[in-house]
Amino acid sequence: MNGVDERDEAANPNKPQRNGSGVINGTGARANLRERNTRAVLHHLHSVGDASRADLARATGLSRATVSDIVTGLIDRGLVQEKEKPDGGRTGRPATPVSLDQTSYLVVALDLSDTRNVYGALTDLSGRVITRKADFIGTTRGATAIDRVAVLAAFLADKADRPVLGVGVASPGSIDLEGRFVAEAYYGWNGINLAQLLTERLGLTSYVANDANCAALAEAAFAGARGNYLLALVIGHGIGAGLVLEGRIVRGSNHAAGEIGHVVADETGLPCGCGRRGCLETMISLPVLERLAHDESGLAEAGWKTGTVLAPVIGALNIDEVVLVAPPELVEGPFIASLQGAITVHTLPALSRNLEVRTSSLGREATLAGACAVVVSNELGLF
Ligand SMILES: [Zn+2]
Repeated sequence: MNGVDERDEAANPNKPQRNGSGVINGTGARANLRERNTRAVLHHLHSVGDASRADLARATGLSRATVSDIVTGLIDRGLVQEKEKPDGGRTGRPATPVSLDQTSYLVVALDLSDTRNVYGALTDLSGRVITRKADFIGTTRGATAIDRVAVLAAFLADKADRPVLGVGVASPGSIDLEGRFVAEAYYGWNGINLAQLLTERLGLTSYVANDANCAALAEAAFAGARGNYLLALVIGHGIGAGLVLEGRIVRGSNHAAGEIGHVVADETGLPCGCGRRGCLETMISLPVLERLAHDESGLAEAGWKTGTVLAPVIGALNIDEVVLVAPPELVEGPFIASLQGAITVHTLPALSRNLEVRTSSLGREATLAGACAVVVSNELGLF
């Protein structure tokens, strides 16, 4: 990531960018430029590791003076620490490396994908869970459900012994960049800007993003995924996919990218809640797979159907990593083998040869970790 020196600001007018919660970052081009350069420095420290100011200047293309100024600001905020010099006794003043302190701030992360339990955690910037709390909301919906979510977030924020960077919520549904529900089937929140409500109520910058997108971001941010052409398939009561292409979440023209649960895989299949027949969701939702737990041929057939739905997506985008966010005991074995087989049969070898299909190393935590990742990504630009 390259920066632009602030002295060049006049030649590089930048409009303030709107982040996920609708907050304008900075009031003018200089503030915006400063923010961008700070993110470039943080991004380098996160992706490459400890670096001297001179290393950071080389990596970002910024002047040493600009980098020193930014690093001083980051040290003041506690985000960056100076390390011991590699060889303090030598002459010639070896450059002091600085490192990102991932424990310096905490994040309140909430996972609403279960639709009956809200899972919450206080995490550090690396997604490591400090403390957890869940709330069984059952069939509570509408404004009362928002209230319960806000109370849980406030409880967790109250437990923080360090500054809280923000609140991240992973939820089913199509959600716009500002955190407003565009289409949502479980909570009755259509048209509601949950991010804004939580920001106002909690006094903490809040972000709300689709749960499958969060899981995909978590795989790329915390789980060692290459993250260049990644599809995360989340198998729960509903089915969703999150796409990370060239390091960025793909949202789609109507904030519904990855909503493949209601793609018809078999026109003669079972009726679906959406009014169609044979949607993917009727074949591989968690309750269906749980019923098939000891039925190897049933799991293989479900995996094959999934592969036939994914094949055109993999073909169109040259995806090289498919991560299944699902209980491993259900999808490892016949399901994955058959899924991969269907993709191989339905796509060119150039597309399937290097494709890796695996379960998430984060398991059921992927969505919660993704809620943290959304905050860290928006606020600090680490990934
Ligand atoms: Zn459907």
